Amino acid sequence: MMQNELHYIDTHIMNWLTHLDDVIPQLIKDMSTDTKLNRFDLVTNVDKQLQNKFETYLAEHFPGHQLLAEEKDNDTIQPYEGHLWIMDPIDGTANLVKQQEDYCIIIAYFVEGEPKLSYIYDYPHDKLYKAIAGKGAYVNGQPLLPPRELQLRDAIISFGTQYINEDTSKALYDASFSVRNIGSCGLDSVRVIKGQFGAHINTNPKPWDIAAQFLFAKELNLEMTQLNGEPLDFAKSGPFIISNRGCYKAILAIINRDGGYHI
Ligand code: NAP
Ligand code: CA
Ligand code: CA
Repeated sequence: MMQNELHYIDTHIMNWLTHLDDVIPQLIKDMSTDTKLNRFDLVTNVDKQLQNKFETYLAEHFPGHQLLAEEKDNDTIQPYEGHLWIMDPIDGTANLVKQQEDYCIIIAYFVEGEPKLSYIYDYPHDKLYKAIAGKGAYVNGQPLLPPRELQLRDAIISFGTQYINEDTSKALYDASFSVRNIGSCGLDSVRVIKGQFGAHINTNPKPWDIAAQFLFAKELNLEMTQLNGEPLDFAKSGPFIISNRGCYKAILAIINRDGGYHI
């Protein structure tokens, strides 16, 4: 794919994301919340309508491009073929509902299985993180540099403590500087991308939770694998870590020792 084609698509998507600034306030004002599988599994009109708007936008401007997204049926998607967009319309829905902060929109573009464009839009803080294949990563247009190496003892790391057994969780607390969890896979990952956190772990993400992170990791020299160190497949996902190179091996060693992290 030619760089100018990528630039053309990027310009379109940037325009679409910018126009959301006029759309989201009203959606939030009219917010209604439903539950899905259980009382913690929330979805709002904001999630659904943002995804619907993006689906309509793609159909109009890029017909033939596929969309794999959280609030739709993805049965007919051929993820490794042609042009594929992956979207989490709101990542951190619980935060949107309970705090109106710490949520983001995740969009990633793959061509023939290769990541080409990534966006993580931290709307409440007006920060748009973007990665372009071969061109690096940016926040609001300013280049991001690969973060300096963080040793585990100096690093804040992030994971949901309830999804990792107590011994492993305690060992991670002891070996790191401390633990924080924002509650949005995209924004926890952004902290790693910016060098603020050493790592973020989600033991059970779906493709839309981690789709954008592949290209940021590639462009910024971060580690991003399954928790056993094996490569991640963007279409299947799996237990996931995105990590600073300085602490990745030490975290995996703790996660996998003495029977592993499973509860
Ligand atoms: P949360 O505040 O609801 O969500 C935190 C992050 O996890 C968000 O990015 C959220 O994305 C994502 N998420 C949503 N459903 C998930 C799922 N089934 N598995 C993994 N990540 C998911 O807090 P949470 O405590 O992590 O719980 C969310 C749900 O995840 C619960 O049903 C829980 O059983 C399950 N879960 C989470 C993990 C983990 O490592 N975080 C591991 C196993 C299971 P959205 O805002 O887009 O939903
Ligand atoms: Ca999500
Ligand atoms: Ca979501």
